[in-house]
Amino acid sequence: MNRHIILILLLIASPLAQADLRVFACEPEWAALAVEIGGKLVKTDSATHALQDPHYIQARPSLIAKLRRADLLICSGAELEIGWLPQLLSKANNPNVRPGNIGYFEASSYVRRLDVPANVDRAKGDMHPQGSPHVQLNPHNMLIIARALIERMAKLDPDNADQYRQAGADFLERWQEAITAWKDKASVLNGTRVIVHHKSWAYLLDWLGLVEVATLEPIPGVPPTAAHLGELLRMFSNQQDGAEYIIRAPYQSDKASFWLSERTGIPALLLPLTIGGSEGATDLFSLFDDILNRLLGKES
Ligand SMILES: [Zn+2]
Repeated sequence: MNRHIILILLLIASPLAQADLRVFACEPEWAALAVEIGGKLVKTDSATHALQDPHYIQARPSLIAKLRRADLLICSGAELEIGWLPQLLSKANNPNVRPGNIGYFEASSYVRRLDVPANVDRAKGDMHPQGSPHVQLNPHNMLIIARALIERMAKLDPDNADQYRQAGADFLERWQEAITAWKDKASVLNGTRVIVHHKSWAYLLDWLGLVEVATLEPIPGVPPTAAHLGELLRMFSNQQDGAEYIIRAPYQSDKASFWLSERTGIPALLLPLTIGGSEGATDLFSLFDDILNRLLGKES
């Protein structure tokens, strides 16, 4: 082979050697999970960041370009991204990552969904007719999803399958240990009553045994109204059981939380819903560390 051809082949091959799998995640937690499994073999992008509401983003041209080049699309699914992903997929025109194909991975399809409405009635605010898509906040879900993702990545990039399986097994072991430690630390939280802004926390509450006693949104997806907040004020001014926290995500306005907090004395608490949602939540492990610290009053 002539030297020029060898050089050209090397140039073509080198970007592949750097990142063998291009992952486009809908939310930061899935990008982080892909990195735990793939390390330097993957290049990840996330469509949303922690300070954005993942229900609503714009299908920007930069996202379309990234999705066009992706080998693997990882989303929460269960209609969380229904407001923007279909448009992004149609503009990106990348058949590999379309639902039903090997490059499309829907995290919520692997776990038991909570809050599945018996009768879907969008007028009553059932914005998630397939159940809550916010599955990332139960670490047991993360175990199940990680196992499925390891195999999917191995299938998509068979040359590196052993590496994905090895790093994946290592992650699963460390994650299992972390779950045990979190469980010990969180046992005192069992039964804690909380008011939440949006029903984003079903899986976290289920895992920790927290009890949701009210939502600031009058119906899911509708911002808090004066009438509904007035009703909550009446309920929680005189209620002996009360609630211990008013919980919101970083992208939600703090006005309603603070309004109710000032009048009832129930502390308003910001919890990260994903990585980047607080200073402490820098990877999957510290996301849960930070959530527990905040709930245990060790950080504000
Ligand atoms: Zn939601």
